[in-house]
Amino acid sequence: MIQAQTTAEKGELAAAEIISAELGRWGVHCRIETWDQTRANVVAHVESTRRKAALLFPCHLDVVGPGEAQWKHPPFAAVETDGKVYGRGAADMKGGIAAIVTAIGQIVESGTELQGDILLFGAAGEETDSCGARRFVQRAGTLPKLAGVVVTEPTEFEVITAHRGLLWLEVTTKGKAAHGSTPHLGINAIASMKAVLDELEGYKVPFEPHELLGECSMSINKIAGGEAINMVPDKCSLGVDIRTLPTQNHQDIVADFERLLEKLKQSHPRFAADVSMLRDVQALETDSSCDFVRDFCSVVGCSDTRAVGFTTDGPHFAPLGAPVVIFGPGKPELCHKPDEYIDLADVEKAVEHYKNILLRFLS
Ligand SMILES: [Zn+2]
Repeated sequence: MIQAQTTAEKGELAAAEIISAELGRWGVHCRIETWDQTRANVVAHVESTRRKAALLFPCHLDVVGPGEAQWKHPPFAAVETDGKVYGRGAADMKGGIAAIVTAIGQIVESGTELQGDILLFGAAGEETDSCGARRFVQRAGTLPKLAGVVVTEPTEFEVITAHRGLLWLEVTTKGKAAHGSTPHLGINAIASMKAVLDELEGYKVPFEPHELLGECSMSINKIAGGEAINMVPDKCSLGVDIRTLPTQNHQDIVADFERLLEKLKQSHPRFAADVSMLRDVQALETDSSCDFVRDFCSVVGCSDTRAVGFTTDGPHFAPLGAPVVIFGPGKPELCHKPDEYIDLADVEKAVEHYKNILLRFLS
């Protein structure tokens, strides 16, 4: 799975094919869906008597790139040493995928009569725009009734029921290109962006603090503008990363940004800018006291649930109407860093947990 190198550039198909071949050994059929040349989702469906509601296990097939830093072992070699496998995606989240695929295979092999269906969904693009999860949920009309959704992301075996949402905005200022020797004939988009930056420096996205998730945060993390040193730039863009609370409405935040740009236009007639939403994932807030979460915690031996700082595809599955929890092997702090690894003992422990979950809810 690590060697499949499922970055945004290479796409997810190789990983989808590995899952399909592996589950195929146990007679479980997978459907692979591909689009945009490189994107791929995979869905495995184990049918049952349907006396009980089904479980859905979403995971993501893609990984972030290895980054610029030097790794101890090549990032896509999947070197195994001291009971650990090193590589990009080892923790986030090829380890969790290996565990759930193995658990499903072993349950099928055991001949257990299932009373509820098992659905495994491997998503494209979780690290970029959640294109895979959105696509899956849009076409989910034919899914069986769900008892719960278990996202197999790395949580070090803690049951996560809440995380903040994510709203990525791009502000683009528009100018007029001119030769660098005659700047008065153009409108400098970088200079226009300075006005935006000045305005955003003192800006706070309005929010009410949340008892589990704390505060909303905003950080300006990207800027790009200008093509050549002898050319007045006609475009400059800014990337803003906002992490939101369940009570915040993303459309309202965008509308506030639009008002802010409008205000700048009022005071500078040559100013032109717009804002667009690059990514939009709602916060996750599952009721920790519901029966599914309580039963889930007792199966995996956790006395309580937790909230985390990172964001997952989890909120995309909330509209399916079942409680969403995140639970899996691997340390979240290793994600997106050099020398990412997974302990093989944790993958094996996860297989046992997932089998217990399948048996508890579906047999
Ligand atoms: Zn992940």
